[in-house]
Order: sequence, then structure tokens, then C-alpha cells
Amino acid sequence: MTRTVVVTGGGTGIGQAIAARFAGNGARVIITGRRQSVLEHAAGEITGNVEVARFDATDADAVTAFAAGVGPVDVLVNNAGGNTDFDRTAPNSLGEVADSWRANYESNVITAVLMTTGLLSHMNDGGAVVTIGSIAADKGSGSYGAAKAAIASWNIDLARQLGARSITANVVAPGYIADTEFFRDVLTHEAKDGLASPAMTGRAGAPRDIAEMVEFLASDRARQITAQTIAVNGGEWPTR
Ligand code: NDP
Repeated sequence: MTRTVVVTGGGTGIGQAIAARFAGNGARVIITGRRQSVLEHAAGEITGNVEVARFDATDADAVTAFAAGVGPVDVLVNNAGGNTDFDRTAPNSLGEVADSWRANYESNVITAVLMTTGLLSHMNDGGAVVTIGSIAADKGSGSYGAAKAAIASWNIDLARQLGARSITANVVAPGYIADTEFFRDVLTHEAKDGLASPAMTGRAGAPRDIAEMVEFLASDRARQITAQTIAVNGGEWPTR
């Protein structure tokens, strides 16, 4: 039976690779984001059954409207997010500090919580929720790392809640992934090399590295894996 997969932030980078992976395996894939032209361009590049839905995943009303029309969902990939500090100047007041922390929490935590809560009653039993965390949760990266750490904690409770429905909930935590919009195209070649060099594999991660793991966690081969944070970072941050 054709599975329906929702990928937030599926118009660029890691999300687009995840969408392409599922679409290539025959799923019906819905990619979401805030820019219509970006979504349509991505849908045109992906081979398979891809639909687009433009809305801001921090907007509860917009998520409610999307959930009401989407139909049964098998896999939800909470990929939307990023470090909103890249779009801001350094804070000059406590008010600006609060704004920057709220922005990263909204972008990375609220998006995932609203999408998951909104779609839960539409999800088929036996499905999967996969949320994209970050190595920044362990290494530290201000409000961005703190927001990604919050996701990992929230995911444990989510997995507990969904276990009885045989829906798994996991976080995939990437290290540095090249070829996305994450760093807003501001990195020099030297900066990119500097980010890639701590990996034991000697290379930057690619969006497809994350897509492979997400697809596996949503597959029949991973039904006993839940409540976990899985690192995909080339060994940059080892775990036991
Ligand atoms: P991108 O910036 O390319 O992707 C982020 C996507 O999320 C964009 O398509 C963006 O589209 C969408 N998005 C952001 N905010 C919202 C929102 N409020 N509502 C709907 N869509 C939104 O970067 P990546 O592909 O690298 O990032 C994907 C995920 O991977 C993020 O969660 C990021 O934190 C994480 N990550 C990335 C790493 C890296 O090195 N690249 C490392 C570790 C984690 P639009 O702006 O049109 O809404």
C-alpha cells in the first residue's frame, strides 16, 4: 500500500533529500515550507509522487488547517528548523536576548511539537515520527543547541505516548551537513573545511546520509527502535 509521508522543510537541503528518498521508494510525499517557489522547484526536481503545502509550521492555525486536509499519514518527518541567530545581529539588550532564544525555540521545537500534535490523530498505527535534532545539542551552540536538546527530551515522552499504537518516535542528530541553506551561503571554503575536518570519515555529511537513516527508522526493519537519538556525524561526536 502507498505510504503517505509529510516532510517539513522539504523544499531544501536535508528535507529535500529525505523527500526524494521516500518518493523514490514509491511513497506519496508532501513537502512543506514557507516559500511556494522553493517548494515547487524542489517538487520538480524529485522523481515520484510529490505534493507541496506552503505554511509556517510555527503557526498553530496553519498547522490545524493542514492537518484537517491531509488525510491519513504514515510518516511525519519534523525537519524544519535551523539556527535563527544567523538572521539576527548580536543582541544588545536583555529583550533582544529573549527574542533570539524564543526564535530558535519556535523554529526548532514549536514547529515539531505543533506538527506532531496536529497530525497525531491522522496517523496510521505502525507509523513513525522522525525529528531532526543536531550535534549542537551535545556540543553546545547557544539557544540553537538548547532548542535541539529540548527536542530530544520531548521525543522520549512522545515515544512513550505512541508506543501503544506501534508508532515509533526518534531523533536523528546530524553533524555538519554540506549543501543546504543552513549556513545561508556565507561559509568560505576554509570555513567549510574547518567544519568538516573533525569528522573521522574525513568529509562533511551529505543530505543523503540523513535521508538514509530517516528512511530506515520509518521502515519495517526498525519497529523496535523508538525514543532514541541517533547520531549521524562521521564520528565527530562519539557516543557509547
Ligand atoms: P535548510 O535551511 O536548507 O532547511 C531548513 C528548511 O526548513 C527550509 O526548507 C525552510 O524553508 C524550512 N523551515 C524553516 N522554518 C520553517 C517554518 N517555521 N515553517 C516551515 N518550514 C520552515 O537547512 P538544513 O537542510 O541543513 O536543515 C534541516 C534540519 O537539519 C534543520 O532542523 C537543521 O537544524 C538540522 N541540522 C542541519 C545541520 C547542517 O549542518 N546543515 C546540522 C544539524 C542539524 P522555508 O524557509 O521556505 O520555510
